[in-house]
Amino acid sequence: MRFLIRVVGLLFAMYAALSMIRRVLAAFSPAGHVAATDAGHLVKDPVCETYVPERKAIQASGQFFCSEECRRKFCT
Ligand SMILES: [Zn+2]
Repeated sequence: MRFLIRVVGLLFAMYAALSMIRRVLAAFSPAGHVAATDAGHLVKDPVCETYVPERKAIQASGQFFCSEECRRKFCT
């Protein structure tokens, strides 16, 4: 029984450590990744390589664009 408690305790410690590491990594990752959690799913504009929230992006021919200008550049 004591062995089981030790195993459960170890698993809990590992889980706590992992979630802490994940939080630290999120704090140090590029701005785009941090913003992804705040602004929903981000899509990449293939023309100017800017990340835009999917809701605000202009969608055309299977790509997402930050502006009408980029969409036009891509299509011509
Ligand atoms: Zn753009």
